[in-house]
Amino acid sequence: MIHHLQIKLTLEEESRPGLIKEKVANRLGIAREDISGIVLLRKSIDARKFTVYFNYKIKAYVNEAVPQSSPPPFIYKDVSTSKAIHIVGFGPAGMFAALRCIELGYKPIVLERGKKVRERRRDLRAINQEHLVDEDSNYCFGEGGAGTYSDGKLYTRSLKRGDVRRIFENLVFHGATEQILIDAHPHIGTNKLPKIVQNIRETILKFGGEIHFESRVVDFVIRDNKLQALRLKNGTELSVERAILATGHSARDIFYLLHDKKVALAAKSFAMGVRVEHPQQIIDSIQYNCQGLRNQLLPAASYSLVHQVNGRGVYSFCMCPGGFIVPAATAPGEVVVNGMSPSRRNNEFANSGVVVEINVFEDIPKYDHFGPLRGLEYQKNLEQLAYTSGGRNQTAPALRLTDFVEGRISRDLNPTSYQPGLKPAPLHSLLPKLIGSRLRTGFKAYGKKMHGYYTSEANIVGVESRTSSPVTIPRNVRLEHPDIKGLFPCGEGGGYAGGIVSAAMDGERCAEAATVGF
Ligand code: FAD
Repeated sequence: MIHHLQIKLTLEEESRPGLIKEKVANRLGIAREDISGIVLLRKSIDARKFTVYFNYKIKAYVNEAVPQSSPPPFIYKDVSTSKAIHIVGFGPAGMFAALRCIELGYKPIVLERGKKVRERRRDLRAINQEHLVDEDSNYCFGEGGAGTYSDGKLYTRSLKRGDVRRIFENLVFHGATEQILIDAHPHIGTNKLPKIVQNIRETILKFGGEIHFESRVVDFVIRDNKLQALRLKNGTELSVERAILATGHSARDIFYLLHDKKVALAAKSFAMGVRVEHPQQIIDSIQYNCQGLRNQLLPAASYSLVHQVNGRGVYSFCMCPGGFIVPAATAPGEVVVNGMSPSRRNNEFANSGVVVEINVFEDIPKYDHFGPLRGLEYQKNLEQLAYTSGGRNQTAPALRLTDFVEGRISRDLNPTSYQPGLKPAPLHSLLPKLIGSRLRTGFKAYGKKMHGYYTSEANIVGVESRTSSPVTIPRNVRLEHPDIKGLFPCGEGGGYAGGIVSAAMDGERCAEAATVGF
């Protein structure tokens, strides 16, 4: 017989191996020996009350054999001589579009402006140590896209759980830990992601796909409303029949190119703000109600906060416990911050974006004349402001949290994980009121929800601006651009995803759409 059960363990019980089986036996009123196997379905930690609990959802097999784990739900076949679908961009959307093409019997030809993961690392070092930003190789561009040197958080608000599970199983197939299949808040970590990305590359090549690195697409040849060819930066022109455009939300040149070619785009609301960094120990002590170091069985604590200020949400975004703040600019002359963490989340800092919703149709009338690019121009403007106020390199403008809220410049700053360094700058007066004053109210409210959060031991760092795309590239029910037959806007850059998993799912969807009737 199979029983579905929920088991709750205290911290002390969690440290005792075999206790789940004992609890199941007691609950079912049977002997331990009658339990032939236990399969963990979900694990979560509940730290809302004063006691921390580990909650497990399990399947218990009683006097019944535990089935062998089923094979992954995808079969790849050789596509080297099949019809080609071009994919621009090798982030999560592009990678999963390519894998899905292979499953469906089509040959993916990927064009990626950046380098392979290993070579990309050198350019990341140059940003951190020499303040040099390569426009084709940085924290957003290169093999695996913006997801490679990230936290690898795999949360998504998508309700299509089946599709989410498919993505997770594919990540496990390519080397991710099976733990992501059961954790309530799964994450992979920046140290593990490059290998997974590399394995995905190898699968694509093994089954006959092509991946061309350092191949930036700089033009679309469109005739009679049909995509005819892609032009690369090196002058090559590639004839194409169907192309998936998965260039991410930082590829501003793609938005400018489409706009210049009078291809329909639309402005989209997004969010901007700052990154806040606390010592991890402060967050642990608040969330786990502990003094000093957290119990070793507990992961670095995280939080998720939201507060409404004058009709707009001020919310925490992409929280990275035990992580690092990273310089995520994609061009010289701008400062953009983001966060990542290793799989063990064992760094001494906790950082999170704290951002304000920007309604591009109501909040920024001065930018209306930029039409569909108004949000993009506003975003760019603030990134340039961060660059000048940070000292015209990748040093980021920062303040102690309490100084920011109380409107004064900090004499000195707290230690930070941000490698290029921080410089005190009057972010309280530099940020537009729309963002700055809402953030200040929001931070005070957070301090009431989480006692100890509002502290001078935290820094705020500017600017967190690449939360989601400020532009949408429209698509019809066939997921094709309404003005350009054969072009399938995809992933975060098109405005159809927000995060690794939703971008991957959209990649699969676009591959399915692009292969229809082909
Ligand atoms: P991208 O990942 O942006 O990929 C686009 C690709 O297209 C890039 O590789 C780029 O080089 C390429 N490209 C761009 N222009 C061209 C061109 N003209 N020609 C050829 N190639 C081109 N999300 C999460 O869900 N969890 C996290 O923990 C998380 N942490 C993050 C941490 C950091 C530091 C960053 C920067 C992002 C993080 N994100 C996270 C966001 C996540 O990475 C993105 O949502 C996701 O990568 C979007 O996928 P995508 O494939 O649509 O676009």
